[in-house]
Amino acid sequence: MRLLEYQAKDILKDNGIRVPKSRLITKNRIPDLDLPVVIKSQVPVGGRGKAGGVIVVEETTRVASAITKIFAIPIKDHLPTTLLAEELITIKKELYLALLIDRSAREIQVLAHPTGGIEVEKNTTSDFLRVTLSKDSLPTCAKRLGLLFGYNVSAIETLLRKLRRTFVSSDATLLEINPLILTLDDELVCGDCKMEIDDAALFRHPELADETTPESNFVKLDNKGTVATIANGAGLAMATVDAVADHGMRPANFLDIGGGATTASVLEAFSKIIEFPGVKAIVINIFAGITRCDEIAKAIIEARDAMPELPPLFIRLAGTNFEEAVALLSAHEIPTLSSLEDCLLAAREVIRE
Ligand code: GDP
Ligand code: MN
Repeated sequence: MRLLEYQAKDILKDNGIRVPKSRLITKNRIPDLDLPVVIKSQVPVGGRGKAGGVIVVEETTRVASAITKIFAIPIKDHLPTTLLAEELITIKKELYLALLIDRSAREIQVLAHPTGGIEVEKNTTSDFLRVTLSKDSLPTCAKRLGLLFGYNVSAIETLLRKLRRTFVSSDATLLEINPLILTLDDELVCGDCKMEIDDAALFRHPELADETTPESNFVKLDNKGTVATIANGAGLAMATVDAVADHGMRPANFLDIGGGATTASVLEAFSKIIEFPGVKAIVINIFAGITRCDEIAKAIIEARDAMPELPPLFIRLAGTNFEEAVALLSAHEIPTLSSLEDCLLAAREVIRE
């Protein structure tokens, strides 16, 4: 799972690693900001600087427009729901430092370059320093990095020790700091942080799972599609699309809402589906394991209330918290069907009308 920058920086801070002072901005909560600030889009992808998702604001009159602007810029298809406002750090130099897993050595590896920042990809691959960061090799690694960065070796050793501890305790598979900022006062501050957590270890980090939406996979299939599909798991989602076609209807999309879908992620799926003008029915096929039927039910109820133009829903649920889901839905007069087949037959009736 890829963390958002502010989540990753919270973890760094908890581990005693220096990050800029910051405040979170959501659409309905804009805090008082000490200027100047850097306002940054919180999306789970890089390249925000180049896409216009990082704006330096120095005057009070520009705060609101910068915020509005960043909320409206999708970055690689991701629209932010949160922004991070950070104290503006004066940069002397931007360095690149990452920890990742070296599978063949079964160890953590450090990847570093003295020129970081948004153009880091332009560096020649062979110019990066790559060294193993085991407990034993840490002092040697610090010496090499000190030389590379032209920076105090013992300070680097302390930083590496903290980063390694953070990496291990978070079950990270990647921890990339780009830029690692060398400030005018010769301090090292983490300007950006990209962190990936091993999905198989997420059960050890329930505090993280709550905040990010799981990966969902939406593929638009047919502009003239009449039936939209929502399913969980790639296999079930594909089978649902096939079943729609087998019943003589045109599937508009493929959507795997992923394991552990939340109300928010399902609502997002509905908002994508209502963009399709030709859709006359939505077939929802959930076989819940990690996913919980009641979460899906809540999203369906919210979507029905919030989106009056939503086409008729044909819902088949099975698995975790099925009873709770059916109770919730029936309290809102939303019926469920007992099989996918029933959903498809009913959808076909609606489409024929
Ligand atoms: P990315 O483009 O998604 O990697 O976003 P970053 O958080 O790395 O920001 C992109 C660039 O914005 C950085 O490389 C910096 O040049 C600039 N930037 C970010 N924060 C600051 C800051 O506090 N001060 C200054 N001067 N520049 C910043
Ligand atoms: Mn960056």
